Amino acid sequence: MNKNTLDIDRRNFIKKAGGTLIAAAAGSSLALSTMRAHAAQSAVTQTKQTQAAITPQAALQMLKEGNARFVQGNMLKRDLMQQVKATGGGQFPFAAIVGCIDSRASNELIFDQGIGDIFSARIAGNFVNDDILGSLEFACAAAGAKLIVVLGHTECGAIEGACDDVVLGNLTQTLANIKPAVAAVSGYDSDRTSKNNQFVQAAADKNVALTVERIRERSPILRGMADKGQIGLAGAMYDVHTGKVKFTA
Ligand SMILES: [Zn+2]
Repeated sequence: MNKNTLDIDRRNFIKKAGGTLIAAAAGSSLALSTMRAHAAQSAVTQTKQTQAAITPQAALQMLKEGNARFVQGNMLKRDLMQQVKATGGGQFPFAAIVGCIDSRASNELIFDQGIGDIFSARIAGNFVNDDILGSLEFACAAAGAKLIVVLGHTECGAIEGACDDVVLGNLTQTLANIKPAVAAVSGYDSDRTSKNNQFVQAAADKNVALTVERIRERSPILRGMADKGQIGLAGAMYDVHTGKVKFTA
């Protein structure tokens, strides 16, 4: 191999290497954009910093977007065990949801949320009593949640039970918490039972509205936080037929 050949080889090598570099660069930018696309679909595990940066309005928007993803079947990618590890030392949820125990209305699923994202209080008929108010005070005043959502749902058996004055063990007392909402619905005089779907839904809507009011009335701590804009308070209704949540207050 003489010097000229070597030079040609070197030139070819550099050319090749340059080509490879360009290809590699093109590949990495493709990989990067693919990664960005994946990153956009990956869930963020809440930390003290991310929680602190979320406003009540942003928290509401996050739940709306989460429900939209759920309805579209476009849920974020989550490594739940990775989230378990990341949150083991502390939790920083951005919202607290009071929902029904109904098997079709899982708060985390219908809002597309993961480990450490939301506090969930679930009770038949999604009302509040002293214990649930205490839980919400913990969620917001002690643990930093920015939003409380009272989430009712359509076709709620607890609301139907309250409409029909069902008597059954401890459930009788549970349903007594919902009866003020049923009584507050005017009209429907021809049929105020669970056979009247419109009446049942009116009672479910009223129950959400009264529960939001009751949180303000019965928790000076939460009312104070809401009045200062530190937390938001919202009502919502989940449709068990469509998977959609409609925010009402
Ligand atoms: Zn229910």
